[in-house]
Amino acid sequence: MQHIHHLINNWYRHHARDLPWRDPQASGWAVMVSEFMLQQTPVVRVLPVWSEWMRRWPRPQDLAAEPVSEAIRGWGRLGYPRRAVRLHAAAVEITTGHNGVVPSTEAELLALPGVGDYTAAAIACFAFGQPSVVVDTNIRRVHARLFGGMALPEPSPRASEFTRARQVQPTDHETALAWNISVMELGALICTARSPKCEACPVFEHCAWIAAGQPAPHYKPKGQAWQGTDRQVRGAIMAILRSDEGPIEPAAFLTDLASQQDTVFARLQALDAPLEQRRRALAGLLADGLASEEAAGIRLPS
Ligand code: SF4
Repeated sequence: MQHIHHLINNWYRHHARDLPWRDPQASGWAVMVSEFMLQQTPVVRVLPVWSEWMRRWPRPQDLAAEPVSEAIRGWGRLGYPRRAVRLHAAAVEITTGHNGVVPSTEAELLALPGVGDYTAAAIACFAFGQPSVVVDTNIRRVHARLFGGMALPEPSPRASEFTRARQVQPTDHETALAWNISVMELGALICTARSPKCEACPVFEHCAWIAAGQPAPHYKPKGQAWQGTDRQVRGAIMAILRSDEGPIEPAAFLTDLASQQDTVFARLQALDAPLEQRRRALAGLLADGLASEEAAGIRLPS
């Protein structure tokens, strides 16, 4: 294992992307914001939004001082905007409960809104130098291939994967810190989901999947559908709410949609979604706290 640790950590030293949240001077808040944004969104889309976010809200208390609607607007089109609501709630909690300082232990981080096992471990490791066992999608895939000989990890994380992650974690503090980020980067750049670049992989000679003759996946991964989904309709409604300060009558999204002249409605109109789907999307946004309804109409929550 020590040799594998060395090979992957050494590869990272020479090939890692230069990302601003990896700067040794990056604050706990900078790392935390990046981890929220990177859940389910690629680096290339996160970079400009993260930069603007950190320029505008360099500390948790800066974001906490703003209404949640501003966090949703600042989230732009990163998708899954509930993350913005939770990040705002976490900023409020850090401001009121931790004197504006992002806590450094996994236990304290886990108690914050929107912070699950992975995010707590990642922030503790990447921001505060704790050798937590970090297990994200990329790491799961590398472990499954390199150590398990499988083309893909199971569709949902299993307890056995966390056990294996603990077993392969270096015992030396510094090596363990580098290992987490190095394996994650290897999964993002080389050991990718669809077409791993095995010829460029530093652990090719040690890979159980290669040794097993590169067996096919034992299930067909579900693609993330977007076209025609409720998520797509929700995104179009959110774009309208983000662009408008005032409340909008529900009918504008529903029965009167076709007659709306404002160009912000064009995206929703172009989807030609059935009335029932638009109703469902709007109800979902209200239920998720991404929109609020008052007598005058619907707007972003304040
Ligand atoms: S050899 Fe290929 S499958 Fe194995 S860890 Fe490297 S990139 Fe992944």
